Amino acid sequence: MSSPNKKPLKRLTVKPGHMVDPSDDALRCPNCQEPYTLHLTGVTVFRRDKEDSTEGLFIHTPLEGTDCRTRTLSDKERKMNPSSRRSGVRLSVWCEQCQSDDYDLCLANHKGEVTINFQKRER
Ligand SMILES: [Zn+2]
Repeated sequence: MSSPNKKPLKRLTVKPGHMVDPSDDALRCPNCQEPYTLHLTGVTVFRRDKEDSTEGLFIHTPLEGTDCRTRTLSDKERKMNPSSRRSGVRLSVWCEQCQSDDYDLCLANHKGEVTINFQKRER
């Protein structure tokens, strides 16, 4: 089993209106590598007011469960922004195969690109 890292998964171009073909592009669980097992469980948004700013909008919203209240992130949680200087988004995932909820699918602005990778969630 390969270990997840902060490198982008691969170059991916998605045209408007195009649905990624799961048979070719299915995201695999970063823990067990199984396809078709991931569930989105939460969204965390890190929106900096400007590049390098520590101010902005930093919120988390669960997508599953009974308590779906949006909350503002703590200072410690703000450091989980996948982008070191700009804005980013973490999509929390849970795997129905191995039950892992240790990883987030992360989107980050980096030098004019949007990178996508799995990162281990800090607890
Ligand atoms: Zn798994």
